[in-house]
Order: sequence, then C-alpha cells, then structure tokens
Amino acid sequence: MTLRFTRRQPLKPFNTFGMDVAAEHYCELDDLADLPALLASDVYRQNPTLWLGGGSNVLFTADYPGLVARLTLKGARLLETDGDDAIVEAAAGENWHAFVQHTLSQGWYGLENLSLIPGTVGACPVQNIGAYGVEVKDRIESVVCAQLERGGEPLLLSNADCRFGYRDSVFKHEAAGKLLVTAVRFRLSRQPAPRTGYGDIQQQLAAAGIAAPTPQDVSEAVIRIRSSKLPNPAELGNAGSFFKNPVVPQAQAEALLAEHPALPHYPAGDGRVKLAAGWLIDQCGLKGYRDGDAGVHARQALVLVNYGKASGGDIRALAQKVQAAVRQRFGVALEAEPIIL
Ligand SMILES: Cc1cc2nc3c(=O)[nH]c(=O)nc-3n(C[C@H](O)[C@H](O)[C@H](O)COP(=O)(O)OP(=O)(O)OC[C@H]3O[C@@H](n4cnc5c(N)ncnc54)[C@H](O)[C@@H]3O)c2cc1C
Repeated sequence: MTLRFTRRQPLKPFNTFGMDVAAEHYCELDDLADLPALLASDVYRQNPTLWLGGGSNVLFTADYPGLVARLTLKGARLLETDGDDAIVEAAAGENWHAFVQHTLSQGWYGLENLSLIPGTVGACPVQNIGAYGVEVKDRIESVVCAQLERGGEPLLLSNADCRFGYRDSVFKHEAAGKLLVTAVRFRLSRQPAPRTGYGDIQQQLAAAGIAAPTPQDVSEAVIRIRSSKLPNPAELGNAGSFFKNPVVPQAQAEALLAEHPALPHYPAGDGRVKLAAGWLIDQCGLKGYRDGDAGVHARQALVLVNYGKASGGDIRALAQKVQAAVRQRFGVALEAEPIIL
C-alpha cells in the first residue's frame, strides 16, 4: 500500500491505557519499501515523530503534536538451522503473543515464558521484555534496524550491540530516534527445555496434573497465571507494570531487610539487589487505592489502571503519589516503566 498521511488521528484504539488523545499527523507503514518516502516527506522532516507499535507501554498525557507512525510490517520465517537451534526472523509489526504461539506450533522453543505480553515484535528489544524468569535478550540473536538519519539504510545490531539490561537497551538511549527496529532475529531451540522454576508456574502445572510439561504446557500455564493476575487492557486500561522493580546497593537492601524481613528480593548482579516494587507499594496501603478513575489495581499493586475517564495527567499524578509514598516510607525511588508523553 502506498504511504498515506492523515490529520487529527484518534489514538484511543492504539494505546492500551485507552487515552482519548489524537495525533496531529498519522501514518501506517506496512511496507519497508515506503520508508525512504516517509523519511523524505515534509510531514516527517517538519515534525517530531513517535514510532508506535501496540501502544502497550506508553502513557499519553496530551495530544501528540507531531507524527505518529505505526509499524504494521508483517511476516515471520525460518532463516536457518544451526545444530539444535532455529534462527527465526519476525517483522516488527507482528503481534508478540501471536508470534510466540507460532514459534511453539513450529517446534521452535524458548519464548514460552513470555506468552501473552501485549505489543509487537518490534518493541520487544526496546525494553528487553521479560516475565517468569526469562528476558527476551536470552533469545535475541540480532536486531534488524533502519537508520533514520540515513534514509532508512539497514543496520544489523548483534545481541551485544543492543546492550540489554533490566527493561533497558540501546534503543532507549543512543539509538532512540536514530534506529527503527524493522525485524528481530531469534535463536530458538528445537529441543524443548521448559523453564518452570519461576513464580507460580510449577503450582499451575501441578494443579493441571502435568508432571513432564512441554513448552506449550508452560505457555498455557503462563497464560492462565497472567489472566488471573493482570487486568485485560480490553476491559480496563493499563500498561502492565507501571514501575520497574528498583535495584539498590547490597547495603541498602540489607538495612531494609533488617527492618522488613518479608520484603521479596532477588540478586541483581554487581553486588546489587532487586526489590519487589509491588510489595513496597502494597505496604504503603495503596493497593486498590483509587483517585477518581485513576487507580492502583486491587490484585497487582504494580499496575495502574484507567477505570474509564482518567486522563493521562490523572494517571501521572497517581504515579507521583505512589512514588512519593514509597520514597517516604522506604527511601527507595521507583522509576516509571512506560514512556510518558
Ligand atoms: C497487560 C500488560 C502486561 C504487560 N506485561 C509485561 C511483561 O510481563 N513484561 C514486559 O517486559 N512488559 C510488559 N508489558 C509492557 C509491554 O507489553 C511491552 O513493553 C511491549 O514490548 C510494548 O510493545 P508495543 O508494541 O505496545 O510498544 P509501544 O508501546 O507501541 O512502544 C513502546 C516504546 O517502544 C518504541 N518502539 C515501538 N516500536 C518500535 C520499533 N519498531 N523500533 C524502535 N522503537 C520502537 C516506541 O517508540 C516507544 O518508545 C505489559 C503491558 C500490558 C498492557
């Protein structure tokens, strides 16, 4: 399809918080061949641009004054096999969960713990999505990018080039606004090696009477757990975890644990400790707290929700209230996970 720009595009269908905002300019990119024309256009050159995937990790607090370009590039294919591994490439606009299910159906394993995460393949390296003991960096071979300042010329970043960290990558730093992810290459295994040691996966499997789980069983267990714990954005606007789990120096963690032995914590490497942000928020009495239509979810304190008519500003104000409460009670700073615009 040829490139088409529109004006005053409502973004409500394109963000999982359901914020009723508009983009001054809007276009969809469903063919990479159209990227040079997009980058050469007056609309692009004269406006700030937001590259949007599924809108499941953004909070709009106002209309977007520039161009929102939504990537809808499609396709997934096996590039090669390498011993027991399958190198699989998926286009940026593929729905993440549908892609994970596709890999399982093909016998390519390793992404099952990341089932049911909303959003697109193109955004998965941006914050190095993670859940149930797996981060996508564990399975990314390389990332295919377009260089925005070079007419869309391709560039392949290796896993190391992406400098993945906890909910972090080069795409949030030096590469932000310079590199567009157009496809991601995954190194998956043709030998099942289910990882069941995290969270409630084992309990779920036991409850279903499964002693020797397949990757598909793990995926289904993760789907059941997530569906029971997290609000469905189609019913209640949200962007998943609104705060990252804070990572603090060992000494600070020890001092906190001496006072609060029940505080869930995990080693984070380099003598640092990751604390459970949800627990900290819960201890401040904020789980289930509601201010108008902006709320802290009743079952998962990490998730802020839009009960219907909350504005992005209302959600941001609630986030600031949560941050202030946790800072005051525990001396710990909580960082927002979604991009706030
Ligand atoms: C109910 C729910 C549960 C969630 N659970 C998890 C979870 O368990 N783990 C987890 O890690 N996350 C989770 N998230 C957050 C979210 O699903 C992920 O961050 C996801 O990767 C965002 O994908 P998206 O396509 O919606 O990105 P968007 O929200 O559209 O974009 C996010 C950022 O990435 C940039 N971006 C998007 N596409 C590209 C591209 N092709 N190239 C360069 N930059 C790009 C955007 O500009 C923006 O800055 C959850 C969200 C929800 C709503």
